[in-house]
Amino acid sequence: MANLWDTLIGHDSRREMLRHAIAKGRLAHTFLFVGPPGIGKRMLAHAVAQSLLCERHSAADLDACGQCSGCKQVAAGTHPDLFQIGLPAGKQSLPIELFLGPEERRGKEGLCYELSLKPMAGGRKIAIIDDADSLNEASANSLLKTLEEPPPHSLLILVGTTPDAQLPTIRSRCQKLQFAPLTSEQVIEILIRDGIADDRSQAEAVAALCDGSVQTASELLDPQVRSLREAVYNLLAADGRQRYELAGQVVEALEEGSDTSEQRKLAGWAIRFAIEFYRGTIWQLGNDGGAATADSPSSIVLPPPQVTRFTAKFPNRSLDDLDLVGELLERVFQADSHLQRNMSPKLCIEGLFDELTRIERSRRTPATAGSAPR
Ligand SMILES: [Zn+2]
Repeated sequence: MANLWDTLIGHDSRREMLRHAIAKGRLAHTFLFVGPPGIGKRMLAHAVAQSLLCERHSAADLDACGQCSGCKQVAAGTHPDLFQIGLPAGKQSLPIELFLGPEERRGKEGLCYELSLKPMAGGRKIAIIDDADSLNEASANSLLKTLEEPPPHSLLILVGTTPDAQLPTIRSRCQKLQFAPLTSEQVIEILIRDGIADDRSQAEAVAALCDGSVQTASELLDPQVRSLREAVYNLLAADGRQRYELAGQVVEALEEGSDTSEQRKLAGWAIRFAIEFYRGTIWQLGNDGGAATADSPSSIVLPPPQVTRFTAKFPNRSLDDLDLVGELLERVFQADSHLQRNMSPKLCIEGLFDELTRIERSRRTPATAGSAPR
């Protein structure tokens, strides 16, 4: 599909805003696209680039013919006036070489140099910086001059998740464009169209859990992540010795991750599933343990049997019980922040499960016996 707009689903208002700015001759030179990962921000940046480099449509249309050589080159990633960079495999940050060229050619190659040149084919030079959250201080500083005095024919689009991930010096020099998550229906449409889900019912099931991100939905369909979810749910519903054994299995599953970043990702999933689990429990406790309905929070549209089993441990459904589950949930959020502050994924998850067991033991035995039913 050569016209990139045809593959893009959602974000109509953002497209309209950009179109309006171009028509009025007020398109900024530097943008920061922010929003959750996997919702189409980079695709929209590419579609904008294609529209501006299309040889048949005027820029003010913000549309592309998909047929001219400009359109085809953008779609193929070979247009001489479009420069794209992103996080290289295995790197934690965007290296300065991408912006200023290698040490022996400093300032004579790289994104800043490319942008300073006159356009070769179209009327503009366009650069898309993906993974902009991963700009390190040196790379960000190398960009400042270009952001401060953008060449007249240039357009620079940074694509990240949140403005907070950027240094204030970068943030203040870009026009921010916030993107919303996709709707469930849009996610389902993409999952089916691109063959990511096997069928509609599978697409609906993950769309309810993915927070409007196609990337998250695809990851949820990964067999490794699916079995991790099952393992975390089984563990949190279990007691005694079985619980210890299951915790060992979850930690083993993390260790299957090929490197630390893979393990960190799996640990992030384990935490996310624990949050889902306790939120589901709180919802069931508050609704007398009845089955979930269409009005339930999206994460428990399909109430897993493990949550129902865990909820059954609280026959009184007292305020103390709700309080206990709230405390467990709080501890999971704490683990999440430890993980984000670079704690070892294995230590983080082992510590979390130990703590959850301890909290349950210390609170449930004496507290539930004497607590009044709600
Ligand atoms: Zn074209």
